[in-house]
Amino acid sequence: MAVQQNKKSRSRKGMRRSHDRIAVPSVIVCTCGSYTLPHRICPTCGKYHQVSYTKPKAESTNV
Ligand SMILES: [Zn+2]
Repeated sequence: MAVQQNKKSRSRKGMRRSHDRIAVPSVIVCTCGSYTLPHRICPTCGKYHQVSYTKPKAESTNV
């Protein structure tokens, strides 16, 4: 087991942990009005840049 040679101060610990946060995912508004992730097909309308790739979930459940 690795053992640290010198004590890390509270200040050093805080400086190290200043980057230990969970990144907030960037969110865009689709043309259908719902929030979705960028560079992904919208799960609500199934479109990416106004081109339909998949059937929307609501439409596929009715069929
Ligand atoms: Zn959409």
